[in-house]
Amino acid sequence: MEAYIGLENLLDISRIKYNEPMKKHTTVKVGGPCDCLVMPENIDEIKNIVRFAKESKIPYYIIGSGSNLLVADDPVHALIIKIGNKFGKVIVNGDIITAYSGASMPYVAMCAKKNSLTGFEFACGIPGTIGGGIRMNAGAYGSEMSNIVYEVTYLDKEGNIVTLKNHELEFSYRNSFFTNQPDLVILSAVFKLKQGNEEDIAKLMEENKEARQEKQPLDLPNFGSVFRRPEGYFVGKLVSDAGLRGYTIGGAQVSKKHTGFIVNVGDATCKDVVDLIHYIQKIVKEKFDVSLTSEVVFIGGEI
Ligand SMILES: Cc1cc2nc3c(=O)[nH]c(=O)nc-3n(C[C@H](O)[C@H](O)[C@H](O)COP(=O)(O)OP(=O)(O)OC[C@H]3O[C@@H](n4cnc5c(N)ncnc54)[C@H](O)[C@@H]3O)c2cc1C
Repeated sequence: MEAYIGLENLLDISRIKYNEPMKKHTTVKVGGPCDCLVMPENIDEIKNIVRFAKESKIPYYIIGSGSNLLVADDPVHALIIKIGNKFGKVIVNGDIITAYSGASMPYVAMCAKKNSLTGFEFACGIPGTIGGGIRMNAGAYGSEMSNIVYEVTYLDKEGNIVTLKNHELEFSYRNSFFTNQPDLVILSAVFKLKQGNEEDIAKLMEENKEARQEKQPLDLPNFGSVFRRPEGYFVGKLVSDAGLRGYTIGGAQVSKKHTGFIVNVGDATCKDVVDLIHYIQKIVKEKFDVSLTSEVVFIGGEI
C-alpha cells in the first residue's frame, strides 16, 4: 500500500480505508477488497485526491451509495473515491434546491417536501446519491432526473470545475453526459422545482414508498433493476415467463417477489451474480428472442 501513503496528507486518516471489502459499500453486499477507499468531505479534498491518483498513476473509481454497482470478487487494485453523506449538504432557496453530490436522493426528496416543493417525489425511494442519480438519470413513476435538473457542476479531467445546463447534459433513458466518462466527478446539482402543497407531496411520496414495499424485495440485498427495459417488453414478465422466478446460482437468486431483481440470499459472490445475469440473458434470448442488457455498473470486470 506504499503507493497510497501520500493520501494521508490530503484527508483525515479516519476517512481512509485500506484493503476495504467492497461488499460493505454495495447494496447487493457483493465485492472483494479494494486497495484503498477514501471518503472526501469537501471539494478541495476531492480535487487533491484525484490529482494524487493521476500523478501516482493509480486507477480510481467514483462511487456513491453503491446501489447500482457490482464489484469483482478479486482484489480491485484501485482507489475508490466514495462520495457519500460526508459531502451531502443541501440548500433550499425558494423553489431552487442545490444538493452536493453525496446527498441521498431520499434526503433531498424529504427537504423538498418540507419546503412544499413538488417534482422530487419520484426519487424518494431510490437509494442512491445525487451523483449516482445524475450519472444514471435515475427515474421512477413517470419521472426522472432530467425533468428537474437545472444544472450540474463537476470536476473535469484537468481538475477544472465546470457547470453544464440541463440541455447540455445529454440525458436519455438511464444515461447522461457522464455515462462512459468515469474520470469526471459530479460535485453538485441544482434542481428547479415547483411550489406545491406539503400534504399532497407527502401523500405521493407515501404512495411511491408503499408501491416499492409491495413490489420490490427490499428485505434482501439487491441493486435494483438488473436490466434496461427493452423496447416493447417488461423485463420482469420476460424473466417470469421464462420460468426463472427463484432460479438460484450460489447465493444469487432471481427474486421471487420481483423477477426484474437479483437478490443476495446467502453469501453471494460477484461470480454468482454475473453467472445468473448471463443465464437469464441466454434463456430469455432463446425463448423470446429478446436481448437483455445489464443496467448495472461493474468495477473490476465486465458483464
Ligand atoms: C432497492 C433499489 C431500488 C432502486 N430503484 C431504482 C429506481 O426506481 N430508478 C432508478 O433509476 N434506479 C433505481 N435503483 C438503482 C440505483 O439506486 C440508481 O441507479 C442510483 O442512481 C445509483 O446511485 P448511487 O449513488 O448508488 O451510485 P453508485 O451505484 O455508487 O454508482 C453508479 C454509477 O454512478 C457513478 N457515480 C456515483 N456518484 C458519482 C459522482 N459523484 N460523480 C460521478 N459519478 C458518480 C459511479 O461511478 C457509477 O458509474 C434502485 C436500486 C435499489 C437497490
